[in-house]
Amino acid sequence: MCFQCVVPSRRRFLSLTATCVATAGLLPRALSAATSLSPDQALAKLKAGNERFVASPQLCETDLAGQRGAVAKGQSPWATILTCADSRVTPELLFGGVGLGELFVARNAGAMADTAVMGTIEYGAEHLHSPLIVVLGHQRCGAVAAACDVARNHTRLSGSIAPMVNAIVPAAIAVKGKPGDFVDNAVRENARRTATKIGTQSLIVKELVHEGKLKIVYARYDLDTGVVEFLSEPGHA
Ligand SMILES: [Zn+2]
Repeated sequence: MCFQCVVPSRRRFLSLTATCVATAGLLPRALSAATSLSPDQALAKLKAGNERFVASPQLCETDLAGQRGAVAKGQSPWATILTCADSRVTPELLFGGVGLGELFVARNAGAMADTAVMGTIEYGAEHLHSPLIVVLGHQRCGAVAAACDVARNHTRLSGSIAPMVNAIVPAAIAVKGKPGDFVDNAVRENARRTATKIGTQSLIVKELVHEGKLKIVYARYDLDTGVVEFLSEPGHA
């Protein structure tokens, strides 16, 4: 269930659609300004969205045409998500049906912060003023599992997959032999390392964090339950 269509009845849907149409002309200018959400408010909004997704997961009848028109001339995403390319880990859905123009998303296998991703994240933070960066790993990640296989069995991978997975191997080696599930431990460690890399290697991000305008957190998505567990909060790492 999404932000726009809280009650999925036909009458309610028609009412909401009419409201969206009536206000659509006012939205583009308002939405092209930077979000007014603080880093903590953005984080709370993501958490509430994931709770909706877990409690009542369904594709809703969002007025996508209205949203498309509203954000066509400019975007002001209120959170940046770096996550895996895995087809089961779709940020707009697992954070509660977030529509067009709300999340700034970078995805690749393993959710790694290579040069393209670092630039993407910096653009989101500096130019779009997104106040929150979430590095989101996930349960049973194939890329991380491959890195664990390399770390444990020295498996050779082909093509560009090899250097891509090699970037994850240090995280796998760091948790090798520790109690618990090897791959899941590596997923958490990889997300932590990636968040740390973004926060320490990007001067743009570093400065915005120092000014209190930006926050970086890392999390793990559970494929079985749909729950996003924020790992960088008190009680975790
Ligand atoms: Zn994955």
